[in-house]
Amino acid sequence: MLISNSMFEMDNEAIVIRIKTPLGDMDSSVDSASLLNFNDLMVAIRDVMPEATVTAFEYEDEVGDRITVRSDEELKAMLSYYLNTVNEQRMNGLLPDPLQIFPRAGKTPGIRNIHGLKVNTRPNPESDSTHAVSDSIANNSLKKSSAELKKILTNGQQINAQDIHYQELLGHGNGGTVYKAYHVLGNRVLAVKVIPLDITVELQKQIMSELEILYKCDSPYIITFFSAFFVENRISICTEFMDGGSLDVYKTIPELVLGRIAVAVVKGLTYLWSLKILHRDVKPSNMLVNTRGQVKLCDFGVSTQLVNSIAKTYVGTNAYMAPERISGEQYGIHADVWSVGISFMELALGMFPYPQIQKNQGSLIPLQLLQCIVDEDPPVLPVGEFSEMFVHFITLCMQRNPKERPAPNNLMDHPFIIQFNDGNAEVVSMWVCRSLEERRTQQAH
Ligand code: ATP
Ligand code: MG
Repeated sequence: MLISNSMFEMDNEAIVIRIKTPLGDMDSSVDSASLLNFNDLMVAIRDVMPEATVTAFEYEDEVGDRITVRSDEELKAMLSYYLNTVNEQRMNGLLPDPLQIFPRAGKTPGIRNIHGLKVNTRPNPESDSTHAVSDSIANNSLKKSSAELKKILTNGQQINAQDIHYQELLGHGNGGTVYKAYHVLGNRVLAVKVIPLDITVELQKQIMSELEILYKCDSPYIITFFSAFFVENRISICTEFMDGGSLDVYKTIPELVLGRIAVAVVKGLTYLWSLKILHRDVKPSNMLVNTRGQVKLCDFGVSTQLVNSIAKTYVGTNAYMAPERISGEQYGIHADVWSVGISFMELALGMFPYPQIQKNQGSLIPLQLLQCIVDEDPPVLPVGEFSEMFVHFITLCMQRNPKERPAPNNLMDHPFIIQFNDGNAEVVSMWVCRSLEERRTQQAH
């Protein structure tokens, strides 16, 4: 590994690298500029441009001249130039532009190499043993950063509006409309949420940069995010499509199924909390299922600006909010825990647990009507119809005092969750398939 120690003195700044390829831009976030090296970046470039023979890349200096990077030394020069520019942009109150790099693709081996010989140009990690000990620690973090880059680049393939073919309307929410769509270049089905937003270009940029953290979310319990873009005054957010849809459209869900769903929801939330992300909008319509029996969370509030911009056009308060949020107090993880409790209670009963609150038109309710959630003792699941463990779990989650609700570890350790944490996806899968079948038969009649 050709890394001089001075590389590690460089600013520990997180940066966004935009690889310009013939198919479009590929953005990736790198946790720390100091961890980046030439070989890792080349591996990432070759991953997104497997057809080309790339041996170097270029960046543009302030007057637009292209400068080639072929080594760690040259990469270091590029990073220090870029970090300076970032500092200047920040001082002028601007959001930093991503670091744009232009891979230098040579001709394909078939054209350039008349004998058709194939040369493996990928770096061989075993090839340099002289710095084995001192580099081993650095190698670990570098491998991680390379793996991160690769993952981000594969998931985060830039999706352009013209490559999306809309197939059907999946539903309307508070502010957005979700479509099932097909991405031609990526050859996959997507769920695209389109939200009209009348905001400035500066705010659009802020939203895009706040959404960047979604590229990093990597959990089987969180919906995969592919890309987001603005076209005129609408943002489109492209995510994984779940063929079972959201839980709000299923009627009463039996405890055996609900238990497995609760395990996935708790794991998904624990993952988000570990990234210091509060979900803020836990409710049945933001829990998605598929026929493989997977359960994933969506629509968590990573972009404050996006949440604020949507809130400006919609009046009402979310009925799944914890009492402390309804009263406008400060809130944290425990507010998500309340929402888990009230959501699962609704899914178990087949109706919203406060009968005086009617949610005919979605989950937004006039604030005054939600006052009963603040004032009254929380409802309790009828013992006898449900297991003691389930009743206890819901009762704990719905304590009015946030401090009395379980913390993330206690949630995972609750007997109700432990009992159903058996990795059995079959139960949910069969139930989703059966429910979809029933729905199809009903529609046919
Ligand atoms: P809110 O806007 O408050 O989140 P909501 O969740 O009801 O309310 P949307 O998020 O706009 O509304 O979603 C509308 C509907 O689209 C959902 O109820 C769900 O059925 C469907 N949907 C959303 N995302 C997906 C997805 N990734 N795969 C399949 N269906 C989805
Ligand atoms: Mg939603």
